[in-house]
Amino acid sequence: MGGPVTKLKAGLDSVIPEKPEHHDPQRRTQQNMEQIQNPDTLLNQVIAAAEKAGAQKIRTMGYVQCLGKDVPIIKILFRSRPENPRVLLSAGIHGDEPAGPHSVLSLLLSWNESPISSLFQGINLDLFPLINPSGFEKMTRENAEKIDLNREFAKGHPALEIRLLMDDLRNRRYDLSVEFHEDIDARGFYLYEHFPEKRNPFAPSIISRLESEKLTILKDPVIEGMPARNGIIHPGQGRKRSHFRRHGWPMAIYMFRHGTPRTITLETPTMAPLDERIRMHRLALTTALEELVGV
Ligand SMILES: [Zn+2]
Repeated sequence: MGGPVTKLKAGLDSVIPEKPEHHDPQRRTQQNMEQIQNPDTLLNQVIAAAEKAGAQKIRTMGYVQCLGKDVPIIKILFRSRPENPRVLLSAGIHGDEPAGPHSVLSLLLSWNESPISSLFQGINLDLFPLINPSGFEKMTRENAEKIDLNREFAKGHPALEIRLLMDDLRNRRYDLSVEFHEDIDARGFYLYEHFPEKRNPFAPSIISRLESEKLTILKDPVIEGMPARNGIIHPGQGRKRSHFRRHGWPMAIYMFRHGTPRTITLETPTMAPLDERIRMHRLALTTALEELVGV
């Protein structure tokens, strides 16, 4: 079944959050290898923290096979007033980018602390903490079937993980979708943002915030083959539509086409320590939420 599809703005097809050659485990530092990579452990911690934080619902969307076991894909719902902005936060679509799921856990563990608590009381949040559990366990970008899940969103028969996601997201519209990613090659933080016409981007505030905390921003003029400025890549520059016909849609484009006007894809540098990447994700997200709710 087809959901409502918004008309594509010229140039949006140029959003391309990832490239496929990020997964040489040899390049990881020993420090980063020590991270928890067990999806069961992480999900149990996430669920316990979400319950304690007061989540309204924790739904199991389905199960994927992971080293002979069934591991759930879960969605966590936090609800405030219905008229408040709706936000989708997702992490772990690439299994070798553990900072995303660990940042989600970190946020849930500090849910009742300021400024997190007041920000999240002002939004309705849908949260996918770990989209690719089998890749997370194997520390691969792709899932156990060697499929890059962030290229599956336009396919007639996408991978199970993405089918579950698309079945859920097809008829939902959010005011903002934020994705947590990492870049193994990057020497600093950068982000992609698509924002609605006649509205301001959130990205400059995010970059200023991270810089004020002495966090490193990747300032290359070209990032992932696209023009970048001060660590910010906006759609409409660089990529051609044919790129996506060849390589498949990432989630950001799917969300936009299904009615979410603003998508932000955060890329933290894998070469930075895990706790620093978590700080970057947390600061970037809270800054985006401050912009959204007008704090
Ligand atoms: Zn990624």
